[in-house]
Amino acid sequence: MSKPVILTGDRTTGPLHLGHYAGSLSTRLRLQDSHAQFLLLADMQALTDNAHDPAKVSRNVLEVALDYLAVGIDPARTTICLQSHLPALAELTMLYLNFVTVARLERNPTIKDEIEARGFGRNIPAGFLCYPAAQAADITAFRATVVPVGADQAPLIEQTNEIVRRINAAAGRAVLPEARAIIPKAGRLPGVDGKAKMSKSGGNAIRLSASPDEIRAAVRAMFTDPGHLRVEDPGRVDGNVVFTYLDAFDENAEGVAELKARYTRGGLGDGAIKRRLEDILQALIAPIREERARLAKDPGHVLGVIREGTERALTKTEATKREVFNALGLFRLDRRKPAGREEALTELARLGQEFDAT
Ligand code: ATP
Ligand code: MG
Repeated sequence: MSKPVILTGDRTTGPLHLGHYAGSLSTRLRLQDSHAQFLLLADMQALTDNAHDPAKVSRNVLEVALDYLAVGIDPARTTICLQSHLPALAELTMLYLNFVTVARLERNPTIKDEIEARGFGRNIPAGFLCYPAAQAADITAFRATVVPVGADQAPLIEQTNEIVRRINAAAGRAVLPEARAIIPKAGRLPGVDGKAKMSKSGGNAIRLSASPDEIRAAVRAMFTDPGHLRVEDPGRVDGNVVFTYLDAFDENAEGVAELKARYTRGGLGDGAIKRRLEDILQALIAPIREERARLAKDPGHVLGVIREGTERALTKTEATKREVFNALGLFRLDRRKPAGREEALTELARLGQEFDAT
């Protein structure tokens, strides 16, 4: 039996951070043997809110690819590909936009949150509002059934499946599979500032390539419990970013539970929990940073990985697009190859009649 297909990706808006690791990368690493995995460098989606700065989007293609390779994504098992070089994704997006309403797009909770966070007001780029349809195109073009993502993405997978059901209904058969999100326990890592989500655009991230000093500074400045002034005071664990990170990255869950109890009772200082977290993050990030520095010396190799992956993805996505267009009964010019102009015109007329008759 063939392996189930995974599709995920990241917008090429900046180097990846701990939120990506907790939300999605760790699952991708775990599943790269048991699944046929595709990772999309989503430069087109990055443009939906960065159209004023295409150079940034372009520059970060290699950065994100370097992060993939540095954390252990293996191009022999996982296909890394570039969104803007896969025209079928754009073509399917155009098609899918007819299967979703503006009202539904506006109701999508993720889109609502992101519009608010970006302060768009009424000036929402149309591409941004419509990116859930583009994401549906990405997922379905690869025939993915498994999508490892952070918790913020759950409503987008739901919307993808709605589009899939409508396409299948219009085609009269299940031409596309539905997909399921895999969301880990720590599905939404907050920013170091305590804001709901660590994000590249939020300026509240610890990069997977952060230096030891950057990690130290970020942990020192981390939001804890503003009411916890003296060591002996009882402290709050809820909403305390240091504990949220310990939950996500400290493998010793029992140890963390004990610390939480001590902190809540009083008698445990912020300094102590921050030191523990810093040690864990330094140990997690150091090998990634070193591998990344090694790989960055050979950008030609990284480029080769993306080129090869994109070629493989091109074949796959073109095939799906054809199948969907055919299943919907769109007009086909490719059934016969006419020899000259006269034959071509006759053929066109014949195809037209045939189409009318169906
Ligand atoms: P941007 O700010 O440009 O939107 P981002 O940091 O939100 O960037 P994306 O490229 O939008 O990153 O997200 C890629 C993937 O990483 C998605 O699956 C998303 O759910 C996951 N992810 C991003 N940030 C977090 C986070 N803080 N916690 C958990 N998962 C996250
Ligand atoms: Mg995002």
